[in-house]
Amino acid sequence: MLKENLKDVQSKVLEACKRANRNPQDVTLVAVSKTKPVEMLQEIYDCGIRNFGENKVQELVGKIESLPKDIKWHMIGHLQTNKVKYIVGNVELIHSVDSIHLAKEISKQSVKKNVTSHVLIEVNIAEEESKFGLKKEDVLNTITEISKMPNIKVDGLMTIAPYVVNPEENRNFFRKIKQLAVDISNQNIDNVSMNILSMGMTGDYEVAIEEGATIVRVGTGIFGERNYKK
Ligand SMILES: *Cc1c(COP(=O)(O)O)cnc(C)c1O
Repeated sequence: MLKENLKDVQSKVLEACKRANRNPQDVTLVAVSKTKPVEMLQEIYDCGIRNFGENKVQELVGKIESLPKDIKWHMIGHLQTNKVKYIVGNVELIHSVDSIHLAKEISKQSVKKNVTSHVLIEVNIAEEESKFGLKKEDVLNTITEISKMPNIKVDGLMTIAPYVVNPEENRNFFRKIKQLAVDISNQNIDNVSMNILSMGMTGDYEVAIEEGATIVRVGTGIFGERNYKK
């Protein structure tokens, strides 16, 4: 069942790449496994998936300990500064940097552990009250500040688009993120790249790929609905 879900998502990723004339190797599927038991992650791992996304530090750390070591873990949820120390050195990419304060702590912990942390800047592109992330206007200044910090490297942008029934409604938001990345890239800031655009979830990942996503974060489409009440 999970296997079929995954195959379905993978073929839709391929088709979206084809429509957009993009190389499928330029799009990474991150399996968002929050709330799901390690057995289900192992099943998806056995199908060849190596990138997993989690949004809670404690859950992430627990799963890292119980699953194979070659998994690349993505921290995609809001991150509190007091929890940064638990994940630095253990994750491939932190998608959710939304303040200079948080970046400072990531930098500090990375220096301590003698690692470089790769991060994305989270942008609240639709300016939804309920969501974390920087306003579009604040992104450049924030990145410029972070670029001066040791042992932290900005690799691109991340966004969580609004929940919509028709994914076409989010196309313009994805376009805006892509344009913002191009604008920032043109500034040629030292130590900053805009190679990664993490955008698109179960409801809208195909449109996101058409608009330039290099990482799509798919949870429900692979693992099924989440049950938070258990
Ligand atoms: C949960 C989550 C996802 C996956 O959402 P689905 O709609 O289940 O695919 C993607 N990104 C973030 C940041 C999330 O928290």
